[in-house]
Amino acid sequence: MSDYQIRLKAFSWLREKSEVYDDILPRKLLQEGFEYDGIKIPLVSPQGIFKPRQMKLPLTITSISNGPYDDKEIGNFIIYKYRGTDINHRDNVGLRNAMAQNVPLIYFNSIMPGKYISVWPAFIIADMPNELTFKIAFDDKKLPIVKSNKISDSSDARREYITTTVKRRIHQQSFRERVLYAYKTQCTLCRLKHKELLDAAHIIPDSDPASKPTVDNGLALCKIHHAAYDKFFIGITPDYTIEIRDDLLREVDGPMLQHGLKELNKLSIQLPTKAGDRPNKEFLEIKYQQFLHF
Ligand SMILES: [Zn+2]
Repeated sequence: MSDYQIRLKAFSWLREKSEVYDDILPRKLLQEGFEYDGIKIPLVSPQGIFKPRQMKLPLTITSISNGPYDDKEIGNFIIYKYRGTDINHRDNVGLRNAMAQNVPLIYFNSIMPGKYISVWPAFIIADMPNELTFKIAFDDKKLPIVKSNKISDSSDARREYITTTVKRRIHQQSFRERVLYAYKTQCTLCRLKHKELLDAAHIIPDSDPASKPTVDNGLALCKIHHAAYDKFFIGITPDYTIEIRDDLLREVDGPMLQHGLKELNKLSIQLPTKAGDRPNKEFLEIKYQQFLHF
């Protein structure tokens, strides 16, 4: 079996699984891997750079948030650390060879323990031995991969654009997963538990330069309560008390207004169990002041 064929199989397998798992892949699935010619081929190992035994060049690279393989993001690309400090470690040599041959790789980003987002094709576009790092760019999934393993055409501008877009998507998905996990996948106001109807809302909006993608700047909210919080129909005090805007309290209408909004007035929000995940009181205060002056 050739490196090329296994690589193609890995891409198609991941495409299928990403759909099934809604883009968030459990580690166990990647450890077990896919079957090729009756042989199980895993996609990850305890190391960040992984080459299955059956292949000539690395297949996957993994960034573990806050772990030893944490990547720094500089500019519009991803910076990926060497394995260890030996420039000539076989894993580092493997990535260098993948760069020389323009071979597409799979990039995994661990958004929380045991949960991964996958991106491919990923390319090593620069080797920086002085910093013990590689520079990584993503490219278009639709590009044909030619028989020699290489992608048929490489364009720096296109790769830069795609990498920027992918990075934004990783950040958004990561924020959503971490916030929903902290709130046990339920709306902090009404306790609705259906993930499809839930959002990870920012307290300080994403568009504000002071906004942080941390769980303490997030709230798990159902779609209607997310919109209502963003549009100041609802305020949350720094003491976690829900306040419904005065004019709404005076309004008389059907069950959504009555049960979905008015009856929440003066109740407390459902808090994450972990203290560090709870909404930051300063962020709540900023937003609450805006609510009061709306
Ligand atoms: Zn709700």
